[in-house]
Amino acid sequence: MSVFVQIVYFVAAAVFILGLKKMSSPVTARGGIVWAGMAMVAATLVAFLEPGVLDHMSNVVLIVLAIAAGSAVAYVTAKRVAMTDMPQMIAIYNGMGGGAAAAIAAVELVRVTGGHHLSTITLSLAVTGALIGAVSFSGSAIAFAKLQGLIKKTIRLPLHQMLNLVLFGATVVVGVLISMNDQPSAALVLAFFVMALVFGITVTTPIGGADMPVVISLFNAFTGLAVALEGFVLNNAAMIIAGTVVGSSGTLLTQLMAKAMNRPITNVLFSSFGSDGGAAAEESVEGSMKEIEGNDAAVMMAYASKVIIIPGYGMAVAQAQHKVQELTKLLEERGVEVKFAIHPVAGRMPGHMNVLLAEAGVEYDKIVDLEDVNPEFPNTDVALVIGANDVVNPVARSNPDSPIYGMPILDADRARNCIVIKRGKGSGFSGIENHLFYADNTRMLYGDGQKAVAALISGVKALS
Ligand code: NDP
Repeated sequence: MSVFVQIVYFVAAAVFILGLKKMSSPVTARGGIVWAGMAMVAATLVAFLEPGVLDHMSNVVLIVLAIAAGSAVAYVTAKRVAMTDMPQMIAIYNGMGGGAAAAIAAVELVRVTGGHHLSTITLSLAVTGALIGAVSFSGSAIAFAKLQGLIKKTIRLPLHQMLNLVLFGATVVVGVLISMNDQPSAALVLAFFVMALVFGITVTTPIGGADMPVVISLFNAFTGLAVALEGFVLNNAAMIIAGTVVGSSGTLLTQLMAKAMNRPITNVLFSSFGSDGGAAAEESVEGSMKEIEGNDAAVMMAYASKVIIIPGYGMAVAQAQHKVQELTKLLEERGVEVKFAIHPVAGRMPGHMNVLLAEAGVEYDKIVDLEDVNPEFPNTDVALVIGANDVVNPVARSNPDSPIYGMPILDADRARNCIVIKRGKGSGFSGIENHLFYADNTRMLYGDGQKAVAALISGVKALS
């Protein structure tokens, strides 16, 4: 039976990796999620056939009850969650994974305090996994609370980073003491978990709410690592492989996000960037913002030969994606070529815009990435920016003193005309002025994203 279990674990692990591969394209992503989910179900079911598990029927009943309760809660919440609330859902689920890994370690460590023997290596792995899992658990809970608006303030104590360093150092020292002790005391183990959980909280509270997606991705990598380490402790191949896959993909995603913002991960973790709600460095800009009415903007677009639409966080807030698709169809019926330009960190999580546009029925081949679309702007009649700000700010190219200098941007300013839809003069996530809005070839169409696009639609319809 054990060989059968190992074979199923191996096949499940291979399917996890294939599923992940499929998730890299929007065309195959849904299939990838189903594949990975099936592999997870198979790995969970065969775990019951591990030697000795079925001998303890009361445990089996508890496990089944826990799985049923968890699955029911996950099913209902996943069905109900709005796309804009997805980052916090990922945060809380991810935190649960870290918490589960820490709980496994806790059970092992409690057994060790009662005299059960683990080798120093296994004990060290359990302690390391416990530390990472506990930090991921409490840190993700804070990330969830911030994104959900339950914690509105960025809490930063005097000497905060120094206190964090001391707390982390002390937690590691206690962890080493536990690993090197054949039978550590229960008080030491308890202190270790409390310190690790508190560290997860204090390291996350100073980070600005809008940086949370990067932090969630980092905690996701942590959770994977913690699960893999506990897999070694339990000698469970599926946990080792699945944890490693999650850990490495989470690390890569974190790096990609940091690169797309041109900010080192240390800057995300320690700078409180954007946490002041957009009141950062105001700088003087020459010129003025020039307003346009919906009808005039519609004429410009209807008689264009090429339009590139740039969605951003504001499109998600306004839930304007369906209206945007309606406008696209109308323009295409008039022979206008329409494309969508996607910045890797447009919105508040990677792929945010792709998911919204896919939900509205925009064809994948019209959605173009930054490097491919930028050379097309000089030949574009109208760049329509909907609720995007930082990702089209030309100071990222031109002003070395700007906090977003070096961040790759979509070159909307290089189109012949640019129309920007936003509600008012508010700045983007970084809090800095956007020089695009003052450019001679830019016109501002003020209003909520959905209403402004509706005005464009009726303007285009009136022309036919
Ligand atoms: P921004 O946050 O820079 O700007 C969004 C704009 O949308 C604002 O200027 C706002 O202006 C406008 N807006 C808000 N609500 C509405 C509405 N209902 N209708 C119309 N407009 C609206 O968004 P971007 O997408 O350009 O940039 C994303 C930012 O988030 C980047 O700085 C990025 O670094 C950061 N970030 C992204 C992550 C990711 O993974 N995607 C992760 C972490 C950070 P107004 O208030 O005037 O309407």
